[in-house]
This record gives sequence, structure tokens and C-alpha cells, in this order.
Amino acid sequence: MILHDVEVFSRQEMETLQLERLQQTVKRVYEKVPFYQNKLNERNVKPEDIRSLEDIRKLPFTTKKDLREHYPFGLLAVNLSEAVRVHASSGTSGKPTVVAYTKNDIENWADIVARAIAIAGGEPGKVLHNAYGYGLFTGGLGLHYGSERLGMVTVPISGGNTDRQVMLIEDFRPEVICGTPSYVLNIAERMRELGKDPRQTSLKYGIFGAEPWSEEMRRTLEEAFDIKACDIYGLSEVIGPGVAMECHEAQDGLHIADDHFYVEVINPQTLEPVADGEEGELVFTSLTKEAFPVIRYRTGDIASITRERCKCGRTTTRMSRVKGRVDDMLIIRGVNVFPSEIEHYLLTVPELAPYYQIHLDRKGTLDIIELHVEINETFAQEIGGDVEGERVVLLKKQIQHLLKSYCLVSMDVVVHGPKALPRSEGKAIRIVDRRKEKAKI
Ligand SMILES: [Zn+2]
Repeated sequence: MILHDVEVFSRQEMETLQLERLQQTVKRVYEKVPFYQNKLNERNVKPEDIRSLEDIRKLPFTTKKDLREHYPFGLLAVNLSEAVRVHASSGTSGKPTVVAYTKNDIENWADIVARAIAIAGGEPGKVLHNAYGYGLFTGGLGLHYGSERLGMVTVPISGGNTDRQVMLIEDFRPEVICGTPSYVLNIAERMRELGKDPRQTSLKYGIFGAEPWSEEMRRTLEEAFDIKACDIYGLSEVIGPGVAMECHEAQDGLHIADDHFYVEVINPQTLEPVADGEEGELVFTSLTKEAFPVIRYRTGDIASITRERCKCGRTTTRMSRVKGRVDDMLIIRGVNVFPSEIEHYLLTVPELAPYYQIHLDRKGTLDIIELHVEINETFAQEIGGDVEGERVVLLKKQIQHLLKSYCLVSMDVVVHGPKALPRSEGKAIRIVDRRKEKAKI
């Protein structure tokens, strides 16, 4: 169901709207957010220099690091008193990333998600079972308000309590289910354990996201429930779920809400734009947000885009399923850690050269992380080249302590002499994952 005429705008109509909104957004952040004002001044760019959509390239990128450095409310473009809600995403270490919404932001977000649910097959008057977690995470409340806005009968069951989920799916007869793919699959499993057939439920459509999932997972979910399973994309920094939604008709890429978000795809190394159809890092600029506008936010997510008309009739830009993260996140014994964070702390150790490798292995069922580092020439001379000596043992302990404190992971540290680690011939190989090799055996 096409809810809004912007979904079938011509490219030109859409670009006119986007430019107007981009100009307003840039003006807003320049006037209200010192961080952006400084960044624009550094580049000698004024809001009136944005005369075309291409001019967006004159603007600075925003990163998660910028958000962390301005924790909690340093990047707001309104007084906190004008906001009506905050959300936060869990931090990998320490503080979360905080976002805020005005009343208008909440209204727009509800419209965006209502449209997304309709794209996925939802209809007014039907029942939507929302198994996303409610709370600081944007998934639960994001889908909730969108579902109500669309006029669906919304069941705010949240995650967990699987037996009750099973009962309510039977009794309330929802047509749409929302949740993470892995959790909804658990519901199917539980149904079978209870002697029920998930294929016999009233469900017709599934909206799945908030964790990476694959085409294999789609097939599994579709077969388990006899539904159409569609991918929803979003991140709290941009607004939350609904930034893009796959249509149930074509299931061929996710329709981006172009009227609210301007998408770019860049090469994460050179930061230059890549052609449509080519993979790169997704970058979003919000076009209508008041409390927390973002300019060229680097999502870290790898995907491609197309501007061709979809089989469903919509003309909005479509993105491919996210292929992965730029920053290859590691999950070690349940703790998320980014190589870039390890690097960050490692580079504060004066005895080390700026080369390292992270080796992942498995001993029995336990993940082992081994950090290979290299001492620099100065320190090597100081200790007479003795990489087995007492000074190096102390250095190892110091590094272990540092990473345990800041990244919350325990790792073995292997110290090498100068120039022992491989040098990059392009993109450095930071991670050597032996766990995958073992999984094949
Ligand atoms: Zn479509």
C-alpha cells in the first residue's frame, strides 16, 4: 500500500524537496550547534554555499566518535527542555550514544515508520505483534508509534516471555510480526515444542531488523511461519527504525525515506563517493529532524544503492541489505569490541610501534584473543633487544590491564621485536580469525 505521494515522486520532484530541506537543516545546525558551526567555519563554508545537492560534499562528516565526545546532549539543536524523548544505544565500552526528539520529530518518525510498515504489507485495522524490546532502544517504541499511526491494532508485547508470545499470536490473530530475526525464530521453535504449527498462524508479514541477517535466514523465517519476511533498516543516530524498508512485493532492496534522509555511499578509506550499485559505507543526512539533526553521519554499514524504479511502483532510492560493518566488530565471549578501539588504546603505549594484529582462536568452547604487538626501535635498544626479559613481561601486563579496563576483554599479548609484523600493501590486515577455519573442520 503506497501511503504517500512522495513514494512515487519523480527524481526531480524529490531532489527539489531534498535540497530545500537540506538548506534548512544546514542553516539550523550552523546557528544552533557549536560543533557544526566550528566545523563549517574551519572549512570556510556558510549555509548559503549549499546551492545544490552535490554541495553536500562541502560539509563535514559526523561520526560516532563525535557523538561520544559530546555526550550526552552536546549536539542537540534545541534546548533539552524542547525535547520530549531521548533514546540511547548501548555503548561498546562506557557511555551510550544518546539521541533526542522534539514533538515534531516524534510525529515525523511515526509517519516514517507507518509508511515502512505499509511497505512491508501492514494495513490499518489489522493486528501487529511487536516483539521488539521496549525501552531506550529505538526498536520497540519506533515500531509502536508507527503501527498506531498506520491505524493498526498494536500489541506491545516487547521481547521475551516466549510462551506468552505464542499464546497471544494464537488468540489475537496478528497479521504482522516485528522483531529481531533470531528472536522470532525462537518463537517458531517454541510453537513446535508445544505441538503447534507456526505455519498455521494468522501471520502474513514479518518485519525484521536490528541485527545482521542473511537471505538464508529470510528463507528460514518465511518457511517457518509461511510469511513474507522483509528487512527494516535504521539506527538511532539517524532516527531509529524506518530509515529504509524492503517492500513485500519485490523484496529487492530497502526503500529509503528520501524525503527525510539524504543518502550517500562513500569509499570508507578515501571518503569519496562511489557509483550507484557499488558497495561502500552508507552516510545519512537528516532533512527534517529538529532536536538531533545529523550531517553526513557515517553509519559504518556497508551497502549499495540504486535509484531505479522498483517493481512495486515506488521511485524512492533503494539500499541493498547491509553486508557488514566497516569496522569489523569483534564479539569476544559476549563482549563487543571494535579493532579501532583496541588500536586507540594501544597507540597510547609509548614503547610500541603502530603495528598490531589481532588473532582470534578457540580453545575448546572458549574464544581466545591474542594481540600481537611490536616494540619500537628506541625501546628495543633500551632493553638490549631482549623481548623475553623482565621489562617486556611488565609491558605485557600493562597492555593487558589497559585493554581489560577500557575494552572489557581479556587477551593474551605477544610482544615482537621491531619490524616483525607484516606491513600493509593497501588495507592492513588487522584481524586473523582462526575460529572460522576450525568451524569448517
Ligand atoms: Zn519496492
